[in-house]
Amino acid sequence: MPALDDSIQHVSGIGPKKTALFQKLHISTLRDALETYPRDYEDRTRITPIADTASDGKYALRAVVGTQPKLSRLRRGLTLVKCTIFDSSGSLSVTWFNSPYAVSLVRVGEEYLFYGRIQGAGRTRALVSPQVEPIAPGDDRPGRIVPVYPLTAGLTQRDLARVTEAALDAVPGDWPDPLPAPLRARYRLLDAADALAAIHRPQTTGEVAEARRRMVFEELFLLCCGLQQLKERRRDDPGIPFAADGLAAYLAALPFAPTGAQRRAIDQIAADCASGRPMNRLVQGDVGSGKTIVAAALCALAAQNGWQAAFMAPTEILAAQHAATLTPLFARLGIACTLLTGSMTAAQKRTALAAIESGAAQVVIGTHALIQQGVTFHRLGAVVADEQHRFGVAQRAALSAKGNAPHILVMSATPIPRTLALLLYGDLDVSILDELPPGRRPVETYAVGQTMRRRITAFIDKQIAAGGQVYVVCPLVEEGETDLRSAEQHAKELHTALPHRRIAVLHGRMKDAEKTRVMQAFAAQQVDILVATTVIEVGVDVPNAGLMVVEDADRFGLSQLHQLRGRVGRGSRQSYCVLFGADKGATARERLKILCRTNDGFEIARADLAQRGPGDFFGQRQHGLPALHVADPVADLALMQAAREEAEAILSADPQLAGYPLLRDRVQRLLAAEQDGAFN
Ligand code: ADP
Ligand code: MG
Repeated sequence: MPALDDSIQHVSGIGPKKTALFQKLHISTLRDALETYPRDYEDRTRITPIADTASDGKYALRAVVGTQPKLSRLRRGLTLVKCTIFDSSGSLSVTWFNSPYAVSLVRVGEEYLFYGRIQGAGRTRALVSPQVEPIAPGDDRPGRIVPVYPLTAGLTQRDLARVTEAALDAVPGDWPDPLPAPLRARYRLLDAADALAAIHRPQTTGEVAEARRRMVFEELFLLCCGLQQLKERRRDDPGIPFAADGLAAYLAALPFAPTGAQRRAIDQIAADCASGRPMNRLVQGDVGSGKTIVAAALCALAAQNGWQAAFMAPTEILAAQHAATLTPLFARLGIACTLLTGSMTAAQKRTALAAIESGAAQVVIGTHALIQQGVTFHRLGAVVADEQHRFGVAQRAALSAKGNAPHILVMSATPIPRTLALLLYGDLDVSILDELPPGRRPVETYAVGQTMRRRITAFIDKQIAAGGQVYVVCPLVEEGETDLRSAEQHAKELHTALPHRRIAVLHGRMKDAEKTRVMQAFAAQQVDILVATTVIEVGVDVPNAGLMVVEDADRFGLSQLHQLRGRVGRGSRQSYCVLFGADKGATARERLKILCRTNDGFEIARADLAQRGPGDFFGQRQHGLPALHVADPVADLALMQAAREEAEAILSADPQLAGYPLLRDRVQRLLAAEQDGAFN
């Protein structure tokens, strides 16, 4: 009797060569095979009458062989086997290329189940190289649901099936299930062994769906237990206590009175930091809600208590901008602030690094390299991560484990549905900025087509004449895309149309130092029009800019457009956003109209998520979501909610999961793997 931890090499038909190929699929043992799920299924139980088949589809046909298969040699090295088959509705040709053995695969007058693709039309129409299974006499339900596994060159579905079959045979009768039985009963979930069998050897498509539901629930439940435990565990960690005495001075140093929402968030942060436990908090607020000064409050508290704070921004531009606004604010409080970015000169970097190591730099502003590349802090007590989804569970957990367990504040403008937020930030406490600074007026937004080009150019000119500044954003032009104009081209055309205006270009291929210089010139009002790719998407704050023009806006996600639009409407003047692309079809127009209709980031995110799914929503691999193997964080939201509630219930009764040893082990393994980045 083979065991699950045996190498697949012992499976008959699998030699050393194939064993090596299986490694590419991360399958070495039978257990690995068991945990490699099919990526799809072929339903060969759904039999189609020949007369109902169309071209180019895959079909299961139940048919009798009408003519003896004939082998012909088309030309050197190319053989063709051909026969006809029929059922009560019609007949069809069957061909096999380069499989001479197919002549003996079927016999005239006997009935088989054929599965394959129909190609061609008219006289060349044929079922091409189908799989053939004999139908036993009296079998009125032939056909199977056939799993389709991920493959690598040199391996076939048959190889995968063979190994998986051996693995299923090695599953012991008392296969343990990490999901507690009452929970399985409540949600009518298959037990672990049945689910595995159903996934790899399903009898019906309904069984596949049930097995998947069980697996999704298990995955989300383990994850929720893990996040919850992480949160609980940190609650017991000793944190650095920050006294809040200096808060009044900080608030007095601000150039404006904080909004009620900002004040509440700052108070929550101060309370967290005073508690003697490490803070792990998310500040969520729409673009322009004023997250920066909330985060700066934490930095001030750290400095006032003799600790250092690291303020991390996603780009160098943003880091430089934060440094420009925060350095004078902190100076008023006698707090020393240092910028550290990759584009600084070696000498500047050396000075900054020395100040950070000695503790002379109390607040350090930079990109994520600050934490990741082992900059040595004298006494790091607080970390801010601004607008960064990549700063996911794993990174936070790793940071908490470091040194003094600093207070952590994550800031996000991406308004995401609650359930999804639980996946991303399930281990965090949340403050919400649901109030904009006073005097803001909603940005007037228009979706337009090329016929409006001249009027928009004139409008740009008029805005500048009135003392404002303008952003023009172009999508990134990928190689081979000829219908889009690049930022440089746009800038040239604008220069021709408006020669008296000062125009600058900002794009991703520029060096960071150059980008920062252009951005600073724009902020200092030495530039009227900034033509940019989306490097300005997050966080850039130039309140004098009152017009945002987005070229080919149909190429952007709605949430991204909302972020872009958030660059204007920051001062008290009426701001505008013009979206080109309304002439690119009804779908594009409808999407853009959503932005014209609402300024509410949540509503826009909902529409965006519904249209594109979470991968695109956050940008490829930018989301920091824990790796999910079977669950879909959007489609499985309802299960997510249930899994979350059940995890909370179990953990509140038994925080260490002492009564659930298997569940406890699985959760621990999951957290360890996440922290190692094994899934990322
Ligand atoms: P976010 O990061 O949330 O998008 P910022 O922190 O960049 O927003 O703030 C947006 C703008 O609003 C900045 O120019 C900031 O100085 C200003 N601001 C922030 N809070 C207030 C307030 N309470 N009153 C007036 N202006 C504010
Ligand atoms: Mg911001």
